[in-house]
Amino acid sequence: MDFLRSHQVFYNQQEDINKGILAKIVIERDRCKGCSFCVDACPKNLITIEEELNIQGYLPATIKDNNKCTGCALCAEVCPDVAIEVYK
Ligand code: SF4
Ligand code: SF4
Repeated sequence: MDFLRSHQVFYNQQEDINKGILAKIVIERDRCKGCSFCVDACPKNLITIEEELNIQGYLPATIKDNNKCTGCALCAEVCPDVAIEVYK
């Protein structure tokens, strides 16, 4: 079960904690409109735009390396489509 911490930020899942994952994001691919706001917002440059269209006909954002995510949630805060969930 996920527990909401704040807007779009959830408590880390136990299975991830067991694996030593302290933070990660999940991008809802088919909800994304490919605006790139999250790409520009990530201070670690971890998000990029895919080369294949999603169900809405947009090129969606994707995480390049979740292992480096700090859980800062800047990407989720700027997303106008509420397509990013942060777990930490
Ligand atoms: S939570 Fe922070 S570090 Fe992680 S992908 Fe989003 S902006 Fe980058
Ligand atoms: S900010 Fe949201 S809608 Fe825009 S590219 Fe990122 S995930 Fe997609």
